[in-house]
Amino acid sequence: MSYIAEYLWIDGTKPSAKIRSKAKVISDSEKPGIWGFDGSSTNQAAGESSDVVLSPVMVTPDPIRGGDNKLVLCETLLTDMETPHPTNTRAKCAVVAEKYSSFETWFGLEQEYTFFEGTQPLGWPDIGFPAPQGGYYCGVGADEIFGREVVNKHLQACIDAGLSIAGINAEVMAGQWEFQIGPVEAPKVGDEIWLARWLLQRIGEDIKGPKGMPISVSFDAKPIKGDWNGAGCHTNFSTKQMRSSFEACENAAKSLGEPGKPELHIANYGVGVEDRLTGAHETAKYSEFSYGISNRGASIRIPWQVAKDGKGYIEDRRPNANCDPYLVTQMIIDTVCTSASK
Ligand code: ADP
Ligand code: MN
Ligand code: MN
Ligand code: MN
Repeated sequence: MSYIAEYLWIDGTKPSAKIRSKAKVISDSEKPGIWGFDGSSTNQAAGESSDVVLSPVMVTPDPIRGGDNKLVLCETLLTDMETPHPTNTRAKCAVVAEKYSSFETWFGLEQEYTFFEGTQPLGWPDIGFPAPQGGYYCGVGADEIFGREVVNKHLQACIDAGLSIAGINAEVMAGQWEFQIGPVEAPKVGDEIWLARWLLQRIGEDIKGPKGMPISVSFDAKPIKGDWNGAGCHTNFSTKQMRSSFEACENAAKSLGEPGKPELHIANYGVGVEDRLTGAHETAKYSEFSYGISNRGASIRIPWQVAKDGKGYIEDRRPNANCDPYLVTQMIIDTVCTSASK
């Protein structure tokens, strides 16, 4: 007998990479091995040769096909089989995480996203707007909740795939939701975020909205302009030291505000971050760094429970929904651990 391995990889699309996949039939006596694809069709052709190597980094049960079938998340390499492809940000993240492995860093990412049916957010009227924000966050009822079937199927699929999914909730804008992955170390948390993003989009293909069209997923940071919340990817972070000391948590927050760091982080937190971090809608303005206990209007929030317990983690509220989780986690490790090593 054979099984189907769905190979997944991150492409080179700019300004925000996409996840791609294709399937391979493998004899059940074999493990998923190295494979390849045509990089000229994914914005990944480097120079003369368009062949890109797929090197598996994570294999999970396939909750969509079931049975013995697998999902195979890969990193991309050049044909020398060892040099990371220029679009492979995972490799760099792994190097930085390894350099600071003694810090035992953990990440919990809150991935927000917006469902669409055709050109409108799911549940929105064709013309005009739904009722203003206020009742949608963690709401219930067909007048306020759109897409729960996809959300629940996705949650179960993530569990079945063995991902560290921590929860889900409906968000502030109608049709917007969130799932959380973690706490997990980097780069694994990035692997899991990408797999969970793919599962969400894949499940939406098979479920129709009220207008009869299948449900698509947008990771756009500000899908609807105006008085509607954007979509972020709050990044919760701790080191071993922070998990036992409040001072270490506060120092981590301060280090993210050291000269040059706010600009550097913002520039790598996803396209359109300036449109989302306006200072309104539970955000701090992108150009003004701040941190505070329990403050959802700060760049960095120290949860009240952390202040109460005197230990824990901090939340970087700045990354966009469309961020590269390998890049975001790499930058936080680099900034916080370099500062703590001084
Ligand atoms: P919010 O109140 O901001 O909506 P969530 O409950 O959505 O918070 O997400 C908080 C996330 O923080 C969880 O997904 C969890 O994985 C993560 N987390 C909890 N403890 C730690 C820790 N010590 N280090 C890193 N992340 C953590
Ligand atoms: Mn949350
Ligand atoms: Mn949220
Ligand atoms: Mn949050």
